[in-house]
Amino acid sequence: KTRRRLAFGPVLLGVAGNPVVRATVTKSSLSRPVVRRFVPGTDADAAVRAAADLNGAGLRLTLDRLGEDITDPREATATVAGYREVLQRLADAGLTEGNEISVKLSALGQSLGTDGPALATHNAAELAAAAAGVGVDMTLDMEDHTTVDATLETLRALRADFPRTGAVLQSMLFRTEADARDLSGPGSRIRLVKGAYAEPASVAHAAKADVDRAYARCLEILVGGQGYPMIATHDQRMIDLAEELLRRHARSAEDAEFQMLYGIRTTEQQRLAQAGHRVRVYVPYGTDWYGYFSRRLAERPANLLFFARSLFSR
Ligand code: FAD
Repeated sequence: KTRRRLAFGPVLLGVAGNPVVRATVTKSSLSRPVVRRFVPGTDADAAVRAAADLNGAGLRLTLDRLGEDITDPREATATVAGYREVLQRLADAGLTEGNEISVKLSALGQSLGTDGPALATHNAAELAAAAAGVGVDMTLDMEDHTTVDATLETLRALRADFPRTGAVLQSMLFRTEADARDLSGPGSRIRLVKGAYAEPASVAHAAKADVDRAYARCLEILVGGQGYPMIATHDQRMIDLAEELLRRHARSAEDAEFQMLYGIRTTEQQRLAQAGHRVRVYVPYGTDWYGYFSRRLAERPANLLFFARSLFSR
């Protein structure tokens, strides 16, 4: 299992970056059930439908308008407008309560040169205001390790005016236990994940067992802290450990939540909700689904086989 992560992830991420592979896969289109399993659709309509279905089933959601690593500031403006549209649509449909948006700062300009982080912070503040205006929370997704300092800086700036702004910590990074301690104070909404990016051995645990052990240590810090832990994993051992820690620290059902990705382990999502936990499903939508989809394939070989078969069955 350890080797699989080491050997497989980077290889697939390499293949995914190949322009020929990319063109073929993109042409294979979102209509394919294999993509639909992870991404319910390309537009705000699809996002609102998914929200209605999930909320109807007793699950909360966080909406991710797909897109990342923009190269032109105008794309950031389009990202903000897209989120504004979906927030308004949620409000019109009466689907705001308990729901959230997830935002990637690289879609708001973070990587556009030295002024990028300031531009992204400015755009994120605009989105935080729009979200708060309709009673929706916002969390900043975490991208690769080179962006962590800038993203946590943006988080600090936003929390001055929007204290419920959340962030993500990735247990695979060596720095994360210290970040978890720093961010375990009152009101701090932290989503703990293992990490979805291929990182160099100088900054991250390479072996899956080490990433898992680090996840368990970070869980202890966050659940034992004073903030609001958002436990984002499909790993049953981590879910079991989290349930035990929540009991041990006498956290009530409103004082933490579990999160999983759309289309993954849906039966477990229901089980946790029925056991009385808050459960939030991360729902990506939009035309720019390729990067997200590649990461989901890379983290599980079975998905890649499933996908490869679907390409040849028309
Ligand atoms: P793993 O050990 O990878 O998986 C455990 C088990 O879960 C597997 O054995 C399998 O049964 C199931 N499983 C896992 N992945 C899949 C899959 N793709 N398809 C089918 N079954 C699967 N990463 C970031 O870097 N930044 C973020 O901002 C971020 N946000 C996230 C938000 C949410 C709500 C979630 C759930 C994940 C997020 N991730 C993010 C991704 C995360 O870092 C991991 O890459 C991903 O969750 C897989 O790790 P795992 O904890 O599920 O454990």
